[in-house]
Amino acid sequence: MSFTGKTVIITGSSNGIGRSAALLFAQDGANVTITGRNAERLEETRQLILESGVSESHLNSVVADVTTSDGQDLLVKSTLDKFGKIHILVNNAGATIPDTTGATGTDQTIDVYHKNLKLNLQAVIEMTKKVKPYLMETQGEIVNVSSIAAGPQAQSDVLYYGIAKAALDQYTRSTAIDLIQQGIRVNSVSPGVVHTGFTDALGMPDEASKKFFDYLEAHKECIPSRVVGTPEDIANIILFLADRELSSYIIGETIVADGGSTLVKGSQATDLRTILGL
Ligand code: NDP
Repeated sequence: MSFTGKTVIITGSSNGIGRSAALLFAQDGANVTITGRNAERLEETRQLILESGVSESHLNSVVADVTTSDGQDLLVKSTLDKFGKIHILVNNAGATIPDTTGATGTDQTIDVYHKNLKLNLQAVIEMTKKVKPYLMETQGEIVNVSSIAAGPQAQSDVLYYGIAKAALDQYTRSTAIDLIQQGIRVNSVSPGVVHTGFTDALGMPDEASKKFFDYLEAHKECIPSRVVGTPEDIANIILFLADRELSSYIIGETIVADGGSTLVKGSQATDLRTILGL
């Protein structure tokens, strides 16, 4: 059990990738703080972990909005109250917050810009600052969850989400070099398309989500491996990056896990050999 005696805070663990990471950490011996705004979904995560045989004493379940100062403070305080120390912070909570006016691209409102930046970037910065003193004590780790939407490909549909994640990648690199001086390691994972509550949070109806995933899997120029990722695919990487035995020499890196999506280019969507008569 690699994480016995370690305490982990995983933001956004009421669903998707965070839920899967919480389960794996808990099964691997860690004390885990699970959190999200939705109490019902958070309870589902708690039950999933308990049903896997993990004792209640290893779990701290906190309903909180990670974009608020009070929510962040509650996460830190309740974790210290229950477990005494913090060894690992996983900044996973995130979402593409859509423009409810229906505007797209550059027409999206500044309000939507602020909301996307607040959740996907500012909350990570604030949590990092608040947890840093405790990670210095334990010589701990931070794993950020970014996205292939960070680029270098353009993301005109989800413009503000894309720039938040691009800034997050620079934050990962910069904090990694700053914090390793104090013994804290920072890295990140950038998922491609993964089956989670992500499309639901984006406001996509179930039927459209299914079509979206089916379409991507059917087109090798979208996902060369022709498989949409699972939450476990990403959670396994989070655990690897949080494990100093396994990944100690990796500092400030982003591991891309996207079935090859970011390695293909537009012209590969066409059958060039046929077009050229070859
Ligand atoms: P889910 O929607 O399944 O999970 C997102 C989690 O974030 C939920 O637990 C949600 O909890 C939490 N969350 C969202 N907003 C807040 C908030 N204001 N305060 C507290 N918690 C919040 O999506 P994923 O698991 O896919 O997303 C996890 C990470 O992976 C995100 O950072 C996302 O950007 C990234 N990612 C996902 C991809 C995908 O295809 N799925 C692709 C690339 C990156 P609640 O609703 O209860 O508040």
